[in-house]
Amino acid sequence: MLLGGGVVAALAAAGLLIWPQPVKWSEDAEAASSRLTLEDIPFDGGRAYEYLKTICALGRRPSGSEGMAAQQDLLERHFNTLGGTVHQQWFQIPHPQTAAPVPMMNLIVQWAPERSERILLCCHYDTLPYPMLDKRNPRGEFVGANDGASGVALLMELGNEIGTILERHQRHFGVDFVFFDGEEFIFSEDGRYFLGSEYFSRAYAGGKLPYRGRYRWGVLLDMIGDADLRIPQEGYSVGWPETRPLVNDIWSTARRLGVREFVPRRGPYVRDDHTMLRNLGKIPTCDVIDFDYPPWHTMDDRPDQCSALSLAKVGWVIREWLKAAEGGR
Ligand SMILES: [Zn+2]
Repeated sequence: MLLGGGVVAALAAAGLLIWPQPVKWSEDAEAASSRLTLEDIPFDGGRAYEYLKTICALGRRPSGSEGMAAQQDLLERHFNTLGGTVHQQWFQIPHPQTAAPVPMMNLIVQWAPERSERILLCCHYDTLPYPMLDKRNPRGEFVGANDGASGVALLMELGNEIGTILERHQRHFGVDFVFFDGEEFIFSEDGRYFLGSEYFSRAYAGGKLPYRGRYRWGVLLDMIGDADLRIPQEGYSVGWPETRPLVNDIWSTARRLGVREFVPRRGPYVRDDHTMLRNLGKIPTCDVIDFDYPPWHTMDDRPDQCSALSLAKVGWVIREWLKAAEGGR
């Protein structure tokens, strides 16, 4: 993902790239941290963190790589075992450097596929080919613990509970987990992002998915494992009229649970997979993202920068929101 270019340019032109008013960062940081421990949270962040480490142990996982293939196997086995219905959505993209075809695949896991109204929970599962912002070694190994594995790990853990949730709590909506390929198969900053979500959104809009159903809401999870967690409301998500109620619902769920790391204030505008889902697929999708992450796109984006507690907090909020999600607003 990347910062909204037009917005950044507009802010820079307006001289607004610094905060217009002084912010008391210490108080702000205090306000954004809860005293919750892993024991307080009934979502298994420890197991989610083990999944995160397992995924990172596969090594680099850019589109078309061996690591990606290994991850796809891992996820298919995991979700098949849990009773999900797995679809592979294949497509091809010319390699940005060589033009050779690169096979890509969005992995879709359906729960309660017979329900026609559905909720989309998604993340990207490819990793940046190289850590391009790493000053020491921009051609080194990038394993994307937060930027890649964190969303996948959270959905793997949620998969353990989703059957019960749909049986006992959420009886209206079916749920699809979608893992997007090609989010950042880029070799320079001006590369083409969001290939998987673009392909998926066009297929959905054109009635070409291998299943029926209408998405009422979408939630994108990206960079949610940072040990130093702080999730403001992403700018586009809270700005679009059709996603604002969704943002309000998720952040009020967090408030009810005491997860203060979901900060009810507008954060940066982030261009991410949700822009494709909303603009091309017309799926009201919000981005849950902590974009304040110093190891971003460096070799330091490793499991030790993430935590079980952060995964537990985000997983708990999303699960509780999902249990009670309504379609009418
Ligand atoms: Zn990234």
